[in-house]
Amino acid sequence: MKAVCWEGTKDIRVQTVPDPKIINPRDAIVKITSTAICGSDLHLYNGYIPTMESGDILGHEFMGEVVELGSEVKNIKIGDRVVVPFPIACGGCFFCKQKLTSLCDNSNPNAWIAEKLMGYSPSGLFGYSHMLGGYAGGQAEYARVPFADVGLFKIPDGLADEQVLFLTDIFPTGYMAAENCNIQPGDTIAVWGCGPVGQFAIRSAFMLGAERVIAIDLVPERLQMAKDNGAEILNLEELDVGEALKEMTGGRGPDAVIDAVGLEAHGMGPEGFYDKAKQAVRLETDRPHALRQAIVACRKGGTVSIPGVYGGFIDKMPMGAAMNKGLTFKMGQTHVHRYLPTLLDHIQNGAIDPSFVITHRLPLDQAPHGYEIFCNKKDNCIKIVLKP
Ligand SMILES: [Zn+2]
Ligand SMILES: [Zn+2]
Repeated sequence: MKAVCWEGTKDIRVQTVPDPKIINPRDAIVKITSTAICGSDLHLYNGYIPTMESGDILGHEFMGEVVELGSEVKNIKIGDRVVVPFPIACGGCFFCKQKLTSLCDNSNPNAWIAEKLMGYSPSGLFGYSHMLGGYAGGQAEYARVPFADVGLFKIPDGLADEQVLFLTDIFPTGYMAAENCNIQPGDTIAVWGCGPVGQFAIRSAFMLGAERVIAIDLVPERLQMAKDNGAEILNLEELDVGEALKEMTGGRGPDAVIDAVGLEAHGMGPEGFYDKAKQAVRLETDRPHALRQAIVACRKGGTVSIPGVYGGFIDKMPMGAAMNKGLTFKMGQTHVHRYLPTLLDHIQNGAIDPSFVITHRLPLDQAPHGYEIFCNKKDNCIKIVLKP
């Protein structure tokens, strides 16, 4: 089959690889009909996530048709149209039973590597390094889905791929980020980063009762999309974001802040230079500029919600501000399985059509071009769907 393979930093190739096979009785093989490139794939593309190996198949946002089933998968049939959450979850462990599926104890065969860095390992993820399981991803013609009885969600008839594809990650991720803000009627939420997750965080914040959402970015077309989604917008290149937020909130600050940027933030001024220099020599693995700004801008007693991906270590965190202002921090990889059924209902009843975020549709063969334009924000690119 054809698959999008990581061959090194900024080196993505579409290659012919062996078809996946059923290995365990709870596996399924899915013939992929739509798959997407995610902002977090860019952290792999740019070489910031350790334990990638040449030939690794990328992709954790994919859907398709079930073509083969292991003997123990009883709740899904061959021919079913399914979406696949990006974390892999067993369904039976301590964490899965609490619906904390991105923390599953049984889905990362390489847990020992993650344990060295993090103490305990999160779940395995599709297409996201050997430290997180070494699973082949779904930017391919076929994928093997382990624990398929838990990891496949059947899609009802009448919904197009593009309406449901983002249930695999970015819609639940934006939704969990907003839910983590503990939104009360009248609240103002500030969102750093108007990429796809930021857009879904904006929409979700309104769905959960926020009165105002203020969106922060530097890319004009992303700010425009945020505005179309109902947010007030701030271009961080044009003004002092902290001062602007203070002014817009009567001097009090936003009730909750969302960092939908993560480890490759565009820093401004000497602090941005400091992070880039330290990251370049690997003294610091992540560039947390958005997070620092969000912590300082948040109102006293407010919440900092972090859906943006961090991989390792960060410097100069304003912990004094966080502690003395009494902030609450909420973060994590998304427990997609927990949110997926509710969000599918929202799509079915017309409350939201997630396809608004798509700017590009490309054949799988053109994935290297897709990564390049997405990474460099060329051609007004916000979200790419690949068609195998
Ligand atoms: Zn993703
Ligand atoms: Zn589990």
